[in-house]
Amino acid sequence: MPRKTRPVRLGPWIVGGGNPIRVQSMTTTDTRDAEATLRQIETLERVGCEIVRVAVPDQEAAASLGVIKKRSRIPLVADVHFDFRLALRSLEEGVDGLRINPGNIGKRANIALLAKEAKARGVPIRVGVNAGSLEKDLLASLGMSAEAMVASAKRSVELLEDVGFTDIKVSLKAYDVPTTIRAYQIFAASFDYPLHLGITEAGTKFSGAIRSACGLSVLLWHGIGDTVRVSLASNPVEEVRVGYGILRSMGLRSRGVEVVACPTCGRLEIDVEELGKQVEEALSFVEQPLKIAVMGCTVNGPGEARDADIAVVGGKDGAVLYIQGKPMAKLQKAQILERLVQEAKALVERENIEEKAPGAKEVPA
Ligand code: SF4
Repeated sequence: MPRKTRPVRLGPWIVGGGNPIRVQSMTTTDTRDAEATLRQIETLERVGCEIVRVAVPDQEAAASLGVIKKRSRIPLVADVHFDFRLALRSLEEGVDGLRINPGNIGKRANIALLAKEAKARGVPIRVGVNAGSLEKDLLASLGMSAEAMVASAKRSVELLEDVGFTDIKVSLKAYDVPTTIRAYQIFAASFDYPLHLGITEAGTKFSGAIRSACGLSVLLWHGIGDTVRVSLASNPVEEVRVGYGILRSMGLRSRGVEVVACPTCGRLEIDVEELGKQVEEALSFVEQPLKIAVMGCTVNGPGEARDADIAVVGGKDGAVLYIQGKPMAKLQKAQILERLVQEAKALVERENIEEKAPGAKEVPA
């Protein structure tokens, strides 16, 4: 069961309060280049990104946010470090959310002023604690630990509360997975603010996906988490794909294509690995939940095919195509990919398939 958090509005979404867990990513373009940033946001949106964060390192980047906000179809969050004036400018440019790092945003008075301006605009603030940039006094007393991360978050949250600001989201990210898990668990035991999950500096596409899946799945299993971002040193499109993969594996979202592929063995009749990758790529923009099985032979193939929306099962000289569990056609090897993709697109158009996972529906406010 998801932990009951207080709902916070972020653009069109209500985050927390039992609403769908939203998938977030961050652009890698120079924010000062609005056109390049918008192109990347559009690509991210096409693969299902629901919230996008952009870095705001200077006033020129902040000035670019107005143009980006006007044309972005997903809510825009400004990521601000060191200089609270960049956060103020981001608010003026109309962003949907702010992320500040309590370890480097400076004086209490600055945060109070930000809270006032954000409140006037109905913009939430994420207190984004990062183990790599904790306040010096906390590092001195508690070391780099889950406790220090929670103390840092608590400080900023209580300061925001003191000035009457409660549209708060919190994240407590570390590179170390057990530390991250502990930090979220300790914080969640005392506060009901929605939590944004992530493992920071998780790594490259492969290692980062593993670290993120390990950390996020434990937290999600305990009902913790209202938005997720998988941080990868890779194209952010991969972050979105992995994010959905994790949520799908935990039964919390079912958006997009899920490819079930057998692990392959000496009985293999078709190139499952290549075909699986090609199918994922060709159907990466499909929004509806669709399970596609790519199976190497008839040992487990027909069984998996019965459970999938569409499947191909390798056989002598080709494969059998299954649609909604029924064998429909025999395909030559060269035809498999094209026909599979064509049938998947046709099925999506024909059937009004909706996300059915328990967390997929918005809870009325
Ligand atoms: S489905 Fe066939 S090819 Fe694939 S792993 Fe199982 S036995 Fe091997």
